[in-house]
Amino acid sequence: MTDASTPQGGGCRNAPVLKERGQREVFCGLTGIIWLHRKMQDAFFLVVGSRTCAHLLQSAAGVMIFAEPRFGTAILEETDLAGMADAHQELDREVDRLLSRRPDIRQLFLVGSCPSEVIKLDLARAAERLTQKYAPAVRVLNYSGSGIETTFTEGEDACLASMVPVLPETQERELLVVGALPDVVEDQMLGLLDKLGIGPVRLLPSRSLDTETAVGPNTVFALTQPFLGETHAALERRHARHIPAPFPFGEEGTTAWLAAVAQEFGVSRERFEEATAAPRARARKAIAAAAETLAGKSLFFFPDSQLEIPLARFLARECGMQAVEVGSPYIHHAIHGPDLDLLPAGPQISEGQDVDKQLDRARAARPDLTVCGLGLANPLEAEGLSTKWAIELVFTPVHFYEQAGDLAGLFARPLRRKGLLKMEAAE
Ligand code: SF4
Repeated sequence: MTDASTPQGGGCRNAPVLKERGQREVFCGLTGIIWLHRKMQDAFFLVVGSRTCAHLLQSAAGVMIFAEPRFGTAILEETDLAGMADAHQELDREVDRLLSRRPDIRQLFLVGSCPSEVIKLDLARAAERLTQKYAPAVRVLNYSGSGIETTFTEGEDACLASMVPVLPETQERELLVVGALPDVVEDQMLGLLDKLGIGPVRLLPSRSLDTETAVGPNTVFALTQPFLGETHAALERRHARHIPAPFPFGEEGTTAWLAAVAQEFGVSRERFEEATAAPRARARKAIAAAAETLAGKSLFFFPDSQLEIPLARFLARECGMQAVEVGSPYIHHAIHGPDLDLLPAGPQISEGQDVDKQLDRARAARPDLTVCGLGLANPLEAEGLSTKWAIELVFTPVHFYEQAGDLAGLFARPLRRKGLLKMEAAE
């Protein structure tokens, strides 16, 4: 159904992986609240944290001004350390104030962070206590966004994983699509699945609790984000079955993802061709425009968002780039295996990080483009390397056919800018 085939020299599924466990340079899992609060319109994320956590959220979300924001921080002062009972009471008071002021909230997430006083607070117990108090009007769940435990995309994983055990049980055969996508992209995806005749389709997270999904032994699920390892495990514990597939980045990735789902639901080749031919052609054309800039250029991924392996596959196969190193915070073969199969052999695959050693490797390789976190981008730019901020890839709509050209464009832009600067300098 798809022509995505293993590269001639072999893929990377069995390539040796360089495992590093040193200092990391990534944002913490609280960052996920920035996109999750936009997606889940009846949810509120109450970070139980310090002033640092409040500042991170404010500056990350600073560009958005909401009359009624859907996240906030309950700041735990050091004095709260004196008595945990007081801290629990204080948290209950905060939640009480919030919920009485905001009847629109149907799901409340208590989000843990790193300060030691927060770690000592049992948020799972608090969530249970508060659920008993506010059910059925409000469901209270908890997860950790702590920088000690999570990289920035793991916040979404932890949030979704916290929802899985409380999803209702179903015996229906349904497709569950897992991962937060911008609404416009989600609508495109639902349109494609509809054309293929696949349904019923449920979403996790759904836009609101009213349209909530159920899960059971006849549920099959497809991931749209490669950083959902915990959620994957939680769904399997509910006996749902994963449909392994490359991720829907670029024309080829999208086609392969849809083909895996279509095969599961017995869609005919004719129907698949009919539904996908036009958007495939549009995507190929849009990618070709950016690929002119990208072809033949070398590429180095620092581990950041866990999108690295599928993006490297897209950039290598559809844009003609050559990956030197592809680093990912975690590699799950059940999730990343299909993309590793398609990624042409050659790059160093690395898992985890020892940032100084990795910087040395990047400096030695002097790649044309380095994808990394904000903290590393400026120093590397100062050393003459072109960089792309990994976080932008999570905040920008990049999935499925209609975004494939924009995705390639995101990588082409820093190279074009560098080309222009060189020309100006030469004049
Ligand atoms: S959770 Fe930890 S790493 Fe994240 S902002 Fe708060 S203190 Fe910093």
